[in-house]
Amino acid sequence: NAAGSADKVYTVGVDNTYPPFEFTKDGQLIGIDVDLINAIAKNQGFTINIEQMDFSGIIPAMQAGMIDVGMGGMSITDKRKETVDFSEPYFAAGVSLVVADNNQDIASLDDLTGKKVVVKNGTVGASFADKNTEQYGYSIIQVSDSASMFQEVSNGTADALMEDYPVISYAIATGGLDLKTVGERLTGDDYGISVLKDKNDELLKMINDGLANLKESGEYETIMNTYLD
Ligand code: GLN
Repeated sequence: NAAGSADKVYTVGVDNTYPPFEFTKDGQLIGIDVDLINAIAKNQGFTINIEQMDFSGIIPAMQAGMIDVGMGGMSITDKRKETVDFSEPYFAAGVSLVVADNNQDIASLDDLTGKKVVVKNGTVGASFADKNTEQYGYSIIQVSDSASMFQEVSNGTADALMEDYPVISYAIATGGLDLKTVGERLTGDDYGISVLKDKNDELLKMINDGLANLKESGEYETIMNTYLD
């Protein structure tokens, strides 16, 4: 890994689709993560190439040396810190419980007994669901992308889902989904940009320096405002 050499192209792995963080519009890959890493690369003078993949494949792809940087609305967690180093946080998020908008009987975790909860493989929502399945008595369905998760609740295959609130709010606001969030936020966490642990200090420093510069120049805020109200 020739980190730091001038002509090195860093490959950035992002989620297949995770609006407003990464999604395709008119054939163009856009979103907060995409704009942010492009702006950081420009600010720090390095070149990137972005690849989309299942969210659960991002850290394995880094471990296999196929990508240098992982994004995708990726939450900073202690578990992940065993294998990756994270940049400074760039976005505050957390998981919400979501049901069909005509659902009258689920208002919180306490109402999930005997229900089916759909989660996305490898996410904070999936670990939260796993950890609490016994206490609340629901069963778990796993899918590999957010769109399928939303679909399963819309079509009644599952009763509830767990998704990051900025993502489900954006999907409801822009996609006309027949879903609503209920109850308290289940977790609170921050998104970070990840690189393979202990092997990419120079790259991580460029990412953090770039991020700090974008915050100072106002470009960070402009990117956020492009996608969020
Ligand atoms: N923020 C969540 C996580 O890191 C979900 C990310 C995603 O689905 N792309 O697990």
